[in-house]
Amino acid sequence: MTEGGKKAMFPLNVSVLFCVLKQRTKILHALCSSGSAEHLERVLDILLAKGALIWEDYQNIQAVGLSFSESCSNLQENDECQSTSNQTLLAQRPSLVHKLQGCVDGVLAALLDSGHFSSADCDEVRLPIYTPTQQARRLLDHVRSRGDLAASVLLQYIHQKQEPGLPLNQRELTPPKEFLKYQKKLSSSVSAQACFLSTYAGTSHMSLDDIYTDGQLELAEVNAHGPLGLEDIVGLVGIVNEEADTVLVSGEAGSGKSTLLQRLHLLWARGVALQDFLLLFPFSCRRLNSEHNELSVQELLFQHCCWPDRNQEEIFQFILDHPHQILFTFDGLDELKQSFTDEHRVCCPTQRAPVHVLLFNLIQGSLMKGVQKVVTSRSEAVSPLLKKHLRKEVVLKGFSPTGIDSFVRKHHRDPTVAAKVLESMQANTALLGLCHSPVLCWIVSQCHKELLGCGEGSPKTITDVYLMILQHFLQHQSPLKSTMGLGWLQEHLKTVLLLGQLAFEGITSTCYIFSGTDLEACGVTEKDICMVFLIKSKDMSSTHSKCYEFSHVTLQCFFAALFIVLSSNTNRSVIPKLFELENRETGLTRVCFTACLPSSDQQQQASEKESKAAETPNLQITAMFVSGLLSQRHQNLWLHCCPSAAVEKKARQVARCLSKGIQKHFRSIPQPVQGEKKSMHAMPDFVWLIKCLYEMQESRIAKDAMSKLEVDHLKLTYCNIGPVECTALAYVLQHLRNPVGLQLDNNSVGDVGVEQLLPCMHICNSLYLRNNNITDEGIRKLIAKVIQCDSFQKIALFNNKLTDACMQDFSYLLKTKQVFISLRLGNNNITAEGAKQLAEGLKANQTLAYLGLWGNRIGDAGTEALASSLERSNSLVWLSLVGNGVGSAGACALANLIRKSTSLQELWLTENCITRTGVECLIQALKHNTHVTSVWLRNNDLSLEDAEEMKQLESRLIF
Ligand code: ADP
Repeated sequence: MTEGGKKAMFPLNVSVLFCVLKQRTKILHALCSSGSAEHLERVLDILLAKGALIWEDYQNIQAVGLSFSESCSNLQENDECQSTSNQTLLAQRPSLVHKLQGCVDGVLAALLDSGHFSSADCDEVRLPIYTPTQQARRLLDHVRSRGDLAASVLLQYIHQKQEPGLPLNQRELTPPKEFLKYQKKLSSSVSAQACFLSTYAGTSHMSLDDIYTDGQLELAEVNAHGPLGLEDIVGLVGIVNEEADTVLVSGEAGSGKSTLLQRLHLLWARGVALQDFLLLFPFSCRRLNSEHNELSVQELLFQHCCWPDRNQEEIFQFILDHPHQILFTFDGLDELKQSFTDEHRVCCPTQRAPVHVLLFNLIQGSLMKGVQKVVTSRSEAVSPLLKKHLRKEVVLKGFSPTGIDSFVRKHHRDPTVAAKVLESMQANTALLGLCHSPVLCWIVSQCHKELLGCGEGSPKTITDVYLMILQHFLQHQSPLKSTMGLGWLQEHLKTVLLLGQLAFEGITSTCYIFSGTDLEACGVTEKDICMVFLIKSKDMSSTHSKCYEFSHVTLQCFFAALFIVLSSNTNRSVIPKLFELENRETGLTRVCFTACLPSSDQQQQASEKESKAAETPNLQITAMFVSGLLSQRHQNLWLHCCPSAAVEKKARQVARCLSKGIQKHFRSIPQPVQGEKKSMHAMPDFVWLIKCLYEMQESRIAKDAMSKLEVDHLKLTYCNIGPVECTALAYVLQHLRNPVGLQLDNNSVGDVGVEQLLPCMHICNSLYLRNNNITDEGIRKLIAKVIQCDSFQKIALFNNKLTDACMQDFSYLLKTKQVFISLRLGNNNITAEGAKQLAEGLKANQTLAYLGLWGNRIGDAGTEALASSLERSNSLVWLSLVGNGVGSAGACALANLIRKSTSLQELWLTENCITRTGVECLIQALKHNTHVTSVWLRNNDLSLEDAEEMKQLESRLIF
């Protein structure tokens, strides 16, 4: 034993030592006879923690007898071991070994992230020869050898994970036997519900494993993080409110929210993901609508998800005692009949209340605090009140271009077919834009035969895609007697009208699940049900037998629109009401709208006090389909289905409504402040109106509507603009009379969206596309187009994915365009190479006034190239090279620019590495220049004293 060891042992009572010696054989037997080293290791833990054994001795013991891994004996003692976190690691060793079980992987990930561990270190800890406690000990040993910072990462992780009074390791919890049985029953039921994709019911059973394709998941808070994985939904990333338990997954209809939840459910049930949760209770708000009884939380869980065969109370108590290990998911909050409110408080889990009240209290955390909840909803339906209660919001943005590719390949096992489908999608960029929406991608893949056969007439609008699926399934149903040409609709008119009425009544009364009685009331028969548009409702509980729903809510909207177009039974005011924008939020439209119904129970609907605006998104989608169906392009379809005069009249009504809606929007634009440009910030309804205009595909109407818009700047930031919206925007904006600035910052335009915008570039004088996922490829196409557009003079592309590869294109733009005023490329991935190429273009340009390159990696070499080209410019007034690794060499090159420039006014060099030498060069140059007003130099390599001294020499320097 070492000196230190002796010292540590010294306080031990001599008689105790004697006793130990006397019983040595017995003790040895007790420690080793089990065949496992666990007892011995546990004793060592305690001795280490009490300081009775020093680290070196512990290592010696391991080296001789307990050497489970060579790596342990290689551990290096670290000087920092005596510092605080490492001491804690030692002092709390026994309890840490206990706490670490079940979260070794998490800690390893944290250590890997923080750079304290390599993957080889992780592998060593995870060696399969170790028991979980041994893994925990090896982890502690390794962490100790990496010093205090590593130790604090571990302790912080444990601290974050541990809930008061709750042991960290859930496996160490000993749930009652009945609970474990219940867990098994619940997970097999969840797994059975989740393993097939519901859209395919009735056609073919497509397993989720075969078809699931990752969608693009991002935090709603911009720039906070890169793309997210599924587990990040409940993980620590992006939390905005630590107190809240509810995570919102938002996205458009058909963006894949339900499918994503389904995937999470399946992975949990299989034990692959979300294993921190012992139980997962999945709910569908759509189904909760049909629960008319008041329930307690206990009843809600057991009746709607999984019924415990025995010991309900005991199981529920366990749930209450371990809230942090329970997960609830609520799919489609926007489909709930009632709007979210926090008015009615329920705090007691055994108190009964209407289901929506329970749900709202669960979301707020006044009920079952600590239980994590994941809620999905369409973005438009999320109120600010709900946002207050969110832990975080993640947005599902549909498929990426590679996602589309992989979905189509999964959908078509035959690679030749997949390649053909992809080829025809690529050939029609409007269609490709649509396919970012998973539901449309599914339809297009499903109808591949129609798609491949239609050549020129390939679908352009969302309505075209839905018409394609309508035709596909109607003909699929009766392939033998299927009529070629346009007769297919006439042949199935009765079914379409019946389903249409059911859909319409459902949409107007927030009803998405239909009972046998509902079907009968509309006259829908077994035969119509076989048409696959209606599928059997999946239900976790057995209470709702034989209920049906449309295979997707957008399909219900489409049928409702077909009904509006085809039926002679609807009131004349249906169309105006559908397009009415006022009072939606107060639910007034809803009451007015239901008054147009031919056969619904108006009284009951009007008396629903808690009516809400949740159906607004569905009414808007329906209106969009109505616009598309009434387009001149489709008039032939209705020829033998209803009187042409009626259809034409409805088309005129829609055109009037759209025009009125747009005008109203324009009238609401405030007069500009004197000296400023007239600017319009679009409301969400504006994008919807534009999409309706696009669906109509009648340029006369779009032209009429747009000719009256007189603004200089059109702002559509944070408007959920993706490729589909870009197509519609370009279609409509191309009719503007005067050029505008188009500001689309913070959307999801992407390369496909950029391509869609090209037709309206001639009417843009500036384009703002900050934070839009644009790559070099999108830029290449954009520049090829804008070079031909005389008015185009400014572009802002801050925070996209641009690299040096597109700098040649910008260079060409600068060389070629007669007038080009502003180029902002901040926060991309441009290096010195790119800057050199850009410099070539700058040499030949005499109009650029603003050049922004903040947050790239241009460095000294790039700065020198830029500065030397810009020396010839007599137009440049503003240059930013903030955060570009510019040192004194770069600063001296810029000093030359200052010396020679006759126009430069502001130079931004904040956050670089310029030293005193560089600043002295700048000072010398400024002596010869009176135009420059400021040179920003904060956060460079200068001491406070140097900065102070330089400031005295030149007041235009800002430190
Ligand atoms: P939302 O809930 O956002 O309205 P859904 O999850 O119902 O959208 O998706 C609609 C359809 O789109 C699904 O039935 C499926 O066919 C397809 N889909 C959605 N997300 C995915 C995905 N991640 N992988 C494969 N297909 C998907």
